[in-house]
Amino acid sequence: MKINVVKNVMEASDAMADENRRRMDAAGVVAINVLSAPGSGKTTLLEKTIPLLAPRYRCAVLVGDLQTTRDAERLGDLGAPITQINTGRGCHLSPAEVAEGLDTLELDKIDLLFIENVGNMVCPAAFDLGEHFRAVLLSTPEGDDKVAKYPTLFQPADVILLTKIDLLDVLEYDSQRVRDDLSKLNTRAPLIECCPLSGAGLEEWAGWLRERFSEK
Ligand code: MG
Ligand code: ZN
Repeated sequence: MKINVVKNVMEASDAMADENRRRMDAAGVVAINVLSAPGSGKTTLLEKTIPLLAPRYRCAVLVGDLQTTRDAERLGDLGAPITQINTGRGCHLSPAEVAEGLDTLELDKIDLLFIENVGNMVCPAAFDLGEHFRAVLLSTPEGDDKVAKYPTLFQPADVILLTKIDLLDVLEYDSQRVRDDLSKLNTRAPLIECCPLSGAGLEEWAGWLRERFSEK
């Protein structure tokens, strides 16, 4: 019986995700679920990405955190619609929370929706939110062993961003180790080396995002 309960919960979650996707498809929105550990640079990446895409692509952000509106405040000056979702104790965004977030947005006026997940390398990966693509960040200070240690995060990724590459030398970071581990796990997703603060690599990332519109 317990197995049935768990299964039903996940089925309800997936049904809600499908409904989110249907709503966004109807409005022509492409949604990117952005996942990583806390502090990998998700918010910084979005701060720098949105101006690169505007005005051709109208962006919006749903940003998930346990508490505070700090990330939404950081993103607020960009002129894009931002909704902060506070999960309380929740360590990942759920499709129900994303549905509430979608209610706050004028979807017909959005081309690209970034869903910044709660910083966590484990359970956010298990929840389909209704996104079309997944972007996973890995920052150099986290270490070059994380792809092998957190396969459930990296395996379903559509694109992987190695961030803070300005620290490669300081940290004696072995990015080839990351590539080798990825080659066993996910050969589909490109690995983009970047530094959102300096802007290095961001044109490649913006190009990847633009291509998603032709693919969808
Ligand atoms: Mg953030
Ligand atoms: Zn969680």
